[in-house]
Amino acid sequence: MHPLRQTRVGMVRMFLNGGELDEITAFRRELHRQPELSGEEVGTARMVTEALRASQPDTVVTGLGGQGVAAIYQGASDGPTVMVRAELDALPIHEISTLPHRSEIDGKGHLCGHDGHTATLMALARALSHKRPRRGRAILLFQPAEENGAGAAAVLADPKFETLRPDFVFSLHNFPGLPLGHAALTEGPVNCASRGMRIVLSGKTAHASCPEDGIAPTFAMAHLLGELTGLGVGGPLNAEFTLVTVTHARLGEPAFGISPGHAEIWATLRTLTDERMGDLVQSAEGLVRQHAVAAGLTASISYEDIFHQCSNAPAAVSALRQALGEEGISHDEGPTTLPMKASEDFGLFGRVAPSAMFFLGAGENHPRLHNPDYDFPDALIEVGGRAFLRTIRNLLG
Ligand SMILES: [Zn+2]
Ligand SMILES: [Zn+2]
Repeated sequence: MHPLRQTRVGMVRMFLNGGELDEITAFRRELHRQPELSGEEVGTARMVTEALRASQPDTVVTGLGGQGVAAIYQGASDGPTVMVRAELDALPIHEISTLPHRSEIDGKGHLCGHDGHTATLMALARALSHKRPRRGRAILLFQPAEENGAGAAAVLADPKFETLRPDFVFSLHNFPGLPLGHAALTEGPVNCASRGMRIVLSGKTAHASCPEDGIAPTFAMAHLLGELTGLGVGGPLNAEFTLVTVTHARLGEPAFGISPGHAEIWATLRTLTDERMGDLVQSAEGLVRQHAVAAGLTASISYEDIFHQCSNAPAAVSALRQALGEEGISHDEGPTTLPMKASEDFGLFGRVAPSAMFFLGAGENHPRLHNPDYDFPDALIEVGGRAFLRTIRNLLG
């Protein structure tokens, strides 16, 4: 039987009624029409805060690590705090879909499904408003700026986070390529560490007829393009996994009369573990220094989009596994799809509490994440919501 159909049988009523699910689906599509980039999610945060009103959280915290929002549902007695996290941001990619709810903003699109993850938490909010947890607290965290790796760190660094301190943190990401509604879950690493390395080489321009009068970064750049790439060519996703992808390079100006005095190289460094990333950073910086010194150039290096490794804690995985099983949501723990080579800033929550993320199939032939024709499958709102609600009920009653 198709996994999604299997999971729906007799379950829908226990979660939300059809009218409520329709309302939340409409909310998802409204988010989809108005995508905002990392750190700019002002309108999205406002829409979330307004939509939460219908679900009457006990407390709503706004402005968390930027545009983050947290909704707290309080139990009647003391107990643990269970946090579930979704992301608010969209991508600087032009959406090409012809759907009625396609992006209304040129060059921006919800093409990673964060609109759907947010709607899933909104469905969870509605279910929690019908029946609050018996003990402890359930916190729904709408995190900003996931796509550039800044949001989780900013939320954790916000003094307001102290009052939200969780005992468990859960999240999901939709996963095109897996059957619709089928979940993948594993202990240990689920996403890679990565960071953008920006190298600027500065020398001295000269007349193109007399390059010897200047200091051109041409040879240093040519060496670095090859040697940086050679530091890591991928391979099996184990502790040694190392991949360097040069994503952008620029030399001098588009002119025939000038010997260049400036070059810039952007490269994405990727490893499975933070430890291996430390080694890779040292090797890459060593190469840059070596070629800069040899050519008499000055080199500056900066990093952006820093993602740490994302690993699932066994205790949190076992809570999710139990909930998926009880909800009849088909799942597997095979190593075929996990870990993912992509990065995810959810890993940082693992530093404050046992945390786990599961992956929910968006369909085997669904457009891939960040593709211009991607759209979140609305059917997953209910599946993800039920998985999280069951996890919360099992932990908090
Ligand atoms: Zn993404
Ligand atoms: Zn994403």
